[in-house]
Amino acid sequence: LSDRVDLFTDSVIRRMTRISDAYGAINLSQGFPDFDPPKEILDALANITYTGPHQYTITYGSYNLRSALARKHGKAINRTIDPDKEVLVTCGGTEAMMCAMMTICNPGDNVIIFSPFYENYMADIILSGANPIYVPLNPPDFSFDKQVLEDAFKQNVKAIVVCNPSNPTGKVFTKEEMEFIGSLALKHDAFVITDEVYEHIIYEPYQHVHMAGLQDMYDNTITCSSLSKTYSITGWRLGYLIGPEKVMENAKKVHDFLTICAPTPLQEAACIGVNFDDSYYKKLQKMYTEKRDYFCKRLDDIGLKHTTPQGTYFVMMDISEFLSMDIFKGWTDLQFCEWMIKKIGVAAVPGSSFFREPVNNLIRLHFARSRDILDEVLNRLEKLV
Ligand code: GLN
Repeated sequence: LSDRVDLFTDSVIRRMTRISDAYGAINLSQGFPDFDPPKEILDALANITYTGPHQYTITYGSYNLRSALARKHGKAINRTIDPDKEVLVTCGGTEAMMCAMMTICNPGDNVIIFSPFYENYMADIILSGANPIYVPLNPPDFSFDKQVLEDAFKQNVKAIVVCNPSNPTGKVFTKEEMEFIGSLALKHDAFVITDEVYEHIIYEPYQHVHMAGLQDMYDNTITCSSLSKTYSITGWRLGYLIGPEKVMENAKKVHDFLTICAPTPLQEAACIGVNFDDSYYKKLQKMYTEKRDYFCKRLDDIGLKHTTPQGTYFVMMDISEFLSMDIFKGWTDLQFCEWMIKKIGVAAVPGSSFFREPVNNLIRLHFARSRDILDEVLNRLEKLV
């Protein structure tokens, strides 16, 4: 068996979903909505069921979807994007990230990730033969030390991954931070691989900054994103890469041998969403803002300490006080999460699975749930105190 695979565990996020399901808990661990995608997208899929297409698209994605993505992203970064040369449709943001990593890394290269980080990055880096280098995001505001980042870049770095808005912290990187990261990447001839799957789940006054749209950054940026969160279709497994032609040429080869193509009928139906006008994204933002405000306020009322995200639908709850109680003495955050599933009926992700540092006092909960379910969760969490 491959020694590389022994360097990481299975995804704890997905493991918590399995444990949650086994005990019939309310699952606030793996982040996905419990509400339907927009009706227009579902109607399109229903029609396609009978009219097709049902066979492979060309490997890098249906032309309709690629041109819709090129238009949408081009507008966001004020640049004309060529749907044939600069866009690649993948099976979810998950494949997009893996594909980006395999496209640029040689054995022994280093890739910087911020810690805490979305757990896929470490596995993706290792599977592509590279090594992760960690730069901490420091609580409470999850900012990074510029000097530490600068020093990290001096170590034969091929790329840095920037998850923005950031999972699990909910941090939205400022323009100034993005420019600083970008300038270091240019200086060291490295790529910035972005993960922007939460680009439309962002709370005022915070604003999303696309690395690819910053001055001189397009040629060094590989943008990874997904339709999962924006259109509430996490199970459709549609993501994409956008980047300079030279990089995308090789990314297309990697993708072809990984999966050939994403599911054709789903790509065609999803085009409807990608062509929505701005009012859709405003509505989505308003819905998630209401959920965030409600969830965070109720946690405050109960007296549970937590982060308030600037983007994404995640909060990190501080469980230090519980772990200092006699019944939980010496417990890990994973043990606490398992106990919470069994005794409280709510599933969360142990924070330690996101951190390089030995952090044991945070658990991640998401609030992409209907108000009824959130109420039930909060009533159950109330029993904790
Ligand atoms: N990004 C979501 C999370 O962090 C879903 C991850 C996944 O399972 N693809 O929970």
